[in-house]
Amino acid sequence: MPTSFFTAAGKFRRGNLHTHSTGSDGQLEPAEVCRRYQAEGYDFIALTDHFVGQYDYPITDTTPFRNGSFTTLLGAELHIDTTDNGDIWHIVAVGLPADFAPPDVPHFRYFDSTETVTDLTNRAAKAGAFIAIAHPHWSALTEADARCIPAAHAVEVYNHGCAIENDRGDGHLSCEHMLNEGRRLTMIATDDAHFATPDHFGGWVMVKTTENTPDALLAALKAGEYYSSTGPEIHDIRMKRLTIEVDCSKAQTIVVQGRGAASSKICGTDLTTGSIALDRFAVSPWIRVTVIDHAGKRAWSNPIWLDH
Ligand SMILES: [Zn+2]
Ligand SMILES: [Zn+2]
Repeated sequence: MPTSFFTAAGKFRRGNLHTHSTGSDGQLEPAEVCRRYQAEGYDFIALTDHFVGQYDYPITDTTPFRNGSFTTLLGAELHIDTTDNGDIWHIVAVGLPADFAPPDVPHFRYFDSTETVTDLTNRAAKAGAFIAIAHPHWSALTEADARCIPAAHAVEVYNHGCAIENDRGDGHLSCEHMLNEGRRLTMIATDDAHFATPDHFGGWVMVKTTENTPDALLAALKAGEYYSSTGPEIHDIRMKRLTIEVDCSKAQTIVVQGRGAASSKICGTDLTTGSIALDRFAVSPWIRVTVIDHAGKRAWSNPIWLDH
């Protein structure tokens, strides 16, 4: 992914890409979910209710809750088929058309659809959606599972609801296994909010666009022109010949990770910029950046592919 978007024209828009409402098993009406996110300072959300027959295959209509400073993307959490461990798949699809044809999945324990997860995610991507593999740790996904989603744009590397409710919120390992296989995936942090627990306002994406519109946000997501966060901000990432430079909000540690065990870091007090040598990454096809603040909150860049 390029890093030039950090300094390109436009603004970073804060959004939550994975949210539920009374359209499926969430506690709040869609209008109230949107109201709360806007009141919390978000620029947009995607309501991604569970796309199964028991909820009438919802692509929850949030268009009435768009206004001058808040927008929404249409989406759903898709379910079909089974992962290696025998559970149904969970896939976040953002930017679905309102008339996206449902699969044959009447409920969460129905595993007999003739359409596979590969077919369904290919179909959703072809219809225009940004596809993310949801909560890989909670789903106990294997690498073979991940290979079933060639249409994936991203992996959910932080799911706040899972972090709060079952301490399985992290997805970096699954994503890195796929990066090491050459898959050019990006990384999203989300809430997966249902509002029955403190599962909201914990993980988000910061998407750089010139306009806060669904089309602009969707295009930037697909282009990887965003970073993810649970607190800190990343202001700029500059690739130099021998170093990577990172500007951020006050941090305790700035880490660069690459293939295998490759990593390098700088630690300090109230770091707002850092320069890290790239020699440790001489054979890594990709690197990424993590910023950690004094409270342990994190911001994650998308993978940056190196041209060795
Ligand atoms: Zn899920
Ligand atoms: Zn969910």
